[in-house]
Amino acid sequence: MNIILLGPPGAGKGTQAKILQDARGMVQLSTGDMLRAAKDSGTEMGKIVADVMARGDLVTDEIVIGLIREKLQEGSEGGFIFDGFPRTLAQADALGQLLDEMGQTLDHVIELQVDDETLVARIVNRAKEAAAAGQPVRADDNAESVKVRLMAYYKQTAPLIGYYHAKCLLERVDGLAEIDDVKDAIAKVLDKG
Ligand code: ADP
Repeated sequence: MNIILLGPPGAGKGTQAKILQDARGMVQLSTGDMLRAAKDSGTEMGKIVADVMARGDLVTDEIVIGLIREKLQEGSEGGFIFDGFPRTLAQADALGQLLDEMGQTLDHVIELQVDDETLVARIVNRAKEAAAAGQPVRADDNAESVKVRLMAYYKQTAPLIGYYHAKCLLERVDGLAEIDDVKDAIAKVLDKG
């Protein structure tokens, strides 16, 4: 089974993706994590994406589609959880094609619904907690970049809600609920077939 977790930054996609990965033997594909790894490894691509990410803008479709293509080729028996991808209509089309080529389907798109105030509070809090624990704070977890990230979401990613609704794949889950309740709501969607 292959699924997409869709939602704005801070909606809890990464948290739920990790839970699903552990519980169901699925593989989480987070383009954000992949891009951060590229940045940390100091590769050419890493250098190119670092500034774009710190600002909160989207990296080019070409780069992220390339990253996803590579990971898909590694395969996953339990299927994939796409987290933070696709983020544009072009990426969504590319994902559909890649899955087609592999004889695979996209089974569910789960939209985590949260309000903007909660998102900003969660992200600012995540940065504060990391700093207090002496852990690295994400370069884009500041008020300025969060605004750019939210704008990018509404302009470029939110159209995917209609796109997947039209394909009868969209399911909505309340992302404001407790982590465990969000987990149960997602499980209900996945287990109904
Ligand atoms: P969040 O969802 O909290 O914004 P991510 O870790 O998913 O965090 O992404 C962080 C940044 O990485 C984004 O703001 C963007 O610059 C880049 N990025 C991640 N995924 C994509 C993607 N699919 N397309 C373009 N840029 C991406």
